Amino acid sequence: MQKKVTLLSEFGEFGLIEHITNNIKKINPETIYGIGDDAAVLDYSNKKILVTTDLLVEGIHFNLIYTPLKHLGYKSVVVNLSDIVAMNGTPKQITFSLAVSSKFSVEAIEDLYEGVRLACNHYGVDLIGGDTSSSLTGLLISVTAMGYANENEIVYRNGAKETDLICVSGDLGAAYMGLQLLEREKTVFSETSQVQPDLSGHDYILERQLKPEARVDIIKKLKEKGILPTSMIDISDGLSSELIHICKQSKTGCRIYTEKIPIDAETCKMANEFNLPPETAALNGGEDYELLFTIPLSDFEKIKLIKGISVIGNITNASEGLNLISPDGNFIQIMAQGWNAIK
Ligand code: ADP
Ligand code: MG
Repeated sequence: MQKKVTLLSEFGEFGLIEHITNNIKKINPETIYGIGDDAAVLDYSNKKILVTTDLLVEGIHFNLIYTPLKHLGYKSVVVNLSDIVAMNGTPKQITFSLAVSSKFSVEAIEDLYEGVRLACNHYGVDLIGGDTSSSLTGLLISVTAMGYANENEIVYRNGAKETDLICVSGDLGAAYMGLQLLEREKTVFSETSQVQPDLSGHDYILERQLKPEARVDIIKKLKEKGILPTSMIDISDGLSSELIHICKQSKTGCRIYTEKIPIDAETCKMANEFNLPPETAALNGGEDYELLFTIPLSDFEKIKLIKGISVIGNITNASEGLNLISPDGNFIQIMAQGWNAIK
């Protein structure tokens, strides 16, 4: 059966806004007023407010040939929530703005918003507004996320201290290998023949690329165990790039150990197919949205109790520089080769 296609022009701007935002109910008491007026109204009483924003451009940040719109909606929200989480904050609201070209149907935008709604429900976040415009070139998405933290619990990038342990959540490099796989199969996607790309057996890396999650669970567990990281960042551009941010802002050096970097077996397998050392995918690939953070050495016993966190090295004096130590004991200087939008 052919899917129904409604032209955007049939709805117009206001019709479309109403269509995609009707039956949105607010869930958080911090949201006083959401969609429907010139501005939303929020109340965070005595908490500090965190605000972050990201711009996603078709052809630069995502490719619609292999990205289902529902996943794109979900991911656009998640990458912003991840930034709030990386400050040790709790996300509460988002705004979602888009510019669409006429090649999109109302149903396509519905799919996109289905993903937005799923992410909002999953993370308990209110959609409180946005803006809608047309575009001559493709799809453009801008999301702003808001949340809160107690002042003494906000974790910046600049607080790492010598001897601190360096930790990462989950595993790294999978989202990058998922992207490599999708890029490789892209030609098959775009051909009109009956041949379907063979993506079977790669569920994990594909899900990591197409449907990442923000690690709210990790900051909850850290809190439960009484661990307050000294610095934290989410891994959007690859481990190397994020380590450089932390060390630069904290004015420190670091040592991390290759064999301690957590990498999933499926990531290793795909990296081997691409003749790429798996640690390169972890160091220089992006979009894992795991957390990289440092904790005082004295918290070592506590951190061992949390599943899904790896200690990968330690913070050193700035004079030592940033080093990756290979299994045979060689020191390799860490350099940023992460993803860069402005090239
Ligand atoms: P304005 O003229 O003040 O920009 P709009 O007509 O663009 O107002 O928007 C009306 C209401 O709908 C506002 O509350 C706005 O935040 C919300 N809104 C507009 N576009 C979107 C969107 N794409 N997603 C969610 N809310 C939206
Ligand atoms: Mg507007």
